Amino acid sequence: MNAIHPTAEQMIEVESRLGAHNYHPLDVVLTRGEGVYVWDVDGKRYLDCLSAYSAVNQGHCHPKIHAALVEQAARLPLTSRAFRNDQLPKFYEEICALTNSHKVLPMNSGAEAVETAIKAVRKWGYEVKGVAEDQAEIIVCADGFHGRTITIVGFSTDPAARTGFGPFTPGFKVVPYGDADALEKAITANTVGFLVEPIQGEAGVIIPPEGYLKRARELCTLHNVTLILDEIQTGLGRTGTLFAEQHAGIEADVTLIGKALTGGFYPMSAVLSNTEVLGVLKPGQHGSTFGGNPLACAVARAALKALIDEGMIENAAEQGDYFLNELEKLRTNQIKDVRGRGLMIAVEFHEDAGGARRFSEAFQKAGLLCKETHQNTLRFAPPLMINRDQIDWILETTEQVLRTA
Ligand SMILES: *Cc1c(COP(=O)(O)O)cnc(C)c1O
Repeated sequence: MNAIHPTAEQMIEVESRLGAHNYHPLDVVLTRGEGVYVWDVDGKRYLDCLSAYSAVNQGHCHPKIHAALVEQAARLPLTSRAFRNDQLPKFYEEICALTNSHKVLPMNSGAEAVETAIKAVRKWGYEVKGVAEDQAEIIVCADGFHGRTITIVGFSTDPAARTGFGPFTPGFKVVPYGDADALEKAITANTVGFLVEPIQGEAGVIIPPEGYLKRARELCTLHNVTLILDEIQTGLGRTGTLFAEQHAGIEADVTLIGKALTGGFYPMSAVLSNTEVLGVLKPGQHGSTFGGNPLACAVARAALKALIDEGMIENAAEQGDYFLNELEKLRTNQIKDVRGRGLMIAVEFHEDAGGARRFSEAFQKAGLLCKETHQNTLRFAPPLMINRDQIDWILETTEQVLRTA
């Protein structure tokens, strides 16, 4: 490869030769981003309708988050939790006030937040609920997505995610998503938690039936089961509210956040809960070298501030409603369903439409980046600061792609 000016093709070849093939990316090599736009190495501009799976809700290279990162990086990036740092308490205060939480535990990736919640509610089950040793059960949903660790893929129902990775961690029960009766039947005296996405993201923006989450909340309260909402993708404004739980008018016992927590600048996740659940963890029982480091905390503080101060959540609600409404009008006979909430929107094609991948590729040619999820669904999730003109451009481009692809 030419070390000075490798071509996109050469970079793709190197990636393919040297890297594990655990992703199937579009062949676009990006080098720069600003707001809703990204540019490839040949200078072509794209409107990003994936936002790094909703990690870049605040838009690419948000200047204030960038400034916080640079400032903190020059001052003190990492202390480990062996010592205290002056950013952590500020982050705690701000995230707890914003989300109405009493306790927070910062980690790095979304999967780690899920693992942390599993550990905490199991321990809560033994110490508070009184479940007998090693008997704790957690109920999860079919077609859910919660990350890639052994424990998490062990309760996944996606064959690609789990096949060949066993043996798995016991203690999980899978029920169909959106079916409160199935949840009720699955609850036993040993059930300590119900882990669920308020809208299933990776499954293709699956919105559960009206009343489902409310009923799940009631069942959890009735049977003394913690309701753990995985808001790693739906949270922090994506669906037009701070959390997707607000659409259902409920409150989780444990809320998981990640992705947009740092606006795409740094990996960080967190478990939020009442005092009772995270309160069970004592020194030495859980931790992470990088979890809660000052750089992550400083970046998260700036990212949350940008989200709130710049009205991005309200904007997501407003632009999302308009987008979904207009998208409905573009329905062709290839389209099976159009659905979404806020700026988390999906177009599902009929099985005989030739798969969603060819549409992602046609969109790429037209200067719009989005990604298929599973076979037949395309997801549109642009940064939350997108404006009306940019949505109109997406709609025009979509009409053109649907007509010609
Ligand atoms: C992305 C995602 C995760 C996992 O986050 P990682 O940072 O990739 O580990 C977990 N749950 C949901 C709902 C997600 O969308």
